[in-house]
Amino acid sequence: MSISRMLPLRISNFLFSSHNPLSISTHHPPLFLRKMSMDTQSSAARLIDSGLLRSQGLIGGKWTDAYDGKFIKVHNPATGDVIASVPCMGRRETTDAISSAYDTFNSWSKLTASERSKCLRKWYDLLIAHKEDLAKLITLEQGKPLKEALGEVSYGASFIEFYAEEAKRVYGDIIPSTLADRRLFVLKQPVGVVGAITPWNFPLAMITRKVGPALACGCTVVIKPSELTPLTALAAAELSLQAGIPPGVVNVVMGNASDIGDTLLASPQVRKITFTGSTAVGKKLMAGASGTVKKVSLELGGNAPCIVFDDADLDVAVKGALAAKFRNSGQTCVCANRILVQEGIYEKFANAFSSAVQSLQVGNGLAEGVAQGPLINVAALQKVESFIQDATSKGAKIMLGGKRHSLGRTFYEPTVLTDVDSDMRISREEVFGPVAPLLRFKTEEEAIRNAKDTNAGLAAYIFTTNMSRSWRVSEALEFGLVGINEGIISTEVAPFGGVKQSGLGREGSKYGMDEYLEIKYVCLGNMNSP
Ligand code: ADP
Repeated sequence: MSISRMLPLRISNFLFSSHNPLSISTHHPPLFLRKMSMDTQSSAARLIDSGLLRSQGLIGGKWTDAYDGKFIKVHNPATGDVIASVPCMGRRETTDAISSAYDTFNSWSKLTASERSKCLRKWYDLLIAHKEDLAKLITLEQGKPLKEALGEVSYGASFIEFYAEEAKRVYGDIIPSTLADRRLFVLKQPVGVVGAITPWNFPLAMITRKVGPALACGCTVVIKPSELTPLTALAAAELSLQAGIPPGVVNVVMGNASDIGDTLLASPQVRKITFTGSTAVGKKLMAGASGTVKKVSLELGGNAPCIVFDDADLDVAVKGALAAKFRNSGQTCVCANRILVQEGIYEKFANAFSSAVQSLQVGNGLAEGVAQGPLINVAALQKVESFIQDATSKGAKIMLGGKRHSLGRTFYEPTVLTDVDSDMRISREEVFGPVAPLLRFKTEEEAIRNAKDTNAGLAAYIFTTNMSRSWRVSEALEFGLVGINEGIISTEVAPFGGVKQSGLGREGSKYGMDEYLEIKYVCLGNMNSP
């Protein structure tokens, strides 16, 4: 029976009314209703631990509604159904969240590294213990196939585990002195309160990648997850409390993005902004952070070239390009955006790649065997359509797909375009959808020139069996990450980040800690006086 028929009209109206992704209401539905909307999903979507379904912000350890009672509906991109609602917070709630993070900073940063490490390790254990529930939340609010969502939980949790270990390795230095009666020391200290603004494409991992090192260093955080995917963030925050991370160390606010952002930027108590998202918003934040001269890390858009040389192993190249392009339905900043294929292997690669793409099953991420979920919303789908329209009007050919999927709404057919050139919009902008444009090149120099012909500089991929070429090209490319014969290279132990307009700073690895530390030089002088 349809759920709308099982519920009183007022409730069904709430559940099924608007599909506007950011529809704001002034009435906050009672909690039972907020929980019930999640229960209306299929049994496959029910959580094992319903306590993880949090639908309020977290300020100073207290679950909190918006002060004016406004809320935002959260939609399942696969169905358009409202799955929950969360508070639509703004300046006042953010100010309080900053105060609570500021007040807690002193005690949290004074714990020993080992004490902070234990809290983080416990948090990691809880994230893994609730892996299935977290993955379901990710699929429900973001759309990616459950298997990928499980992968995201492992990946996301790995940052907490890694930084639980790194917490103990924040070493300073002793510098040989230039004067006999002086000793020179370098201390590394936590930067302070961190504002962490994250996107919807990895609702867990983009948070843990920031919060893991921040907490390990002794910082406290105010997280603003995407309003499209707040539920995973809230569940992770709930687990942080269960792990014994003191109230006020992790705060979560969501709602009016620019009000929250502006409040974080204006506050002298916030010493660092870390952001993953669009280049346009990243630039605004960078400019806004100048008012109080905050530290800034930015992980922004990419335009990843994936270069397939004539000497590539065809199977490896097809598998790698497929993974690099179609993970998360093409909605990652490291997705292969342009596939540059050398002329000698172009036809063979295009045929093999197309058959591989054709085998990708499209559907609701909760269904068995699905490899391609929906796009995040209809606006994203329309953007993909506009790229294809532009490319085909300028001579690109559709080899596969090229239209909305019969499932409707937010589903798009996995698409392969040939005869694409570097002037089409699809080559110049970040596609963020399941469309693989194939461009042809003749020489290594041409491939490098084309690959670098972008303001972005996040990820690049090379497929070749020539070792010297793999080094030559890796060194020549202006990108922060290079995958050689691999399509998925992100890991907690290696630095992730871009050059040019793809961002500033690195996440993951030992380098990720530096983003949350200040260096203090201490000089002990006059040692010879009694
Ligand atoms: P995407 O296109 O991936 O959603 P955005 O840059 O729009 O990228 O969003 C990434 C994050 O930045 C989200 O949490 C969003 O709410 C937030 N955001 C958007 N605009 C602003 C802003 N003016 N100030 C602060 N955060 C913002």
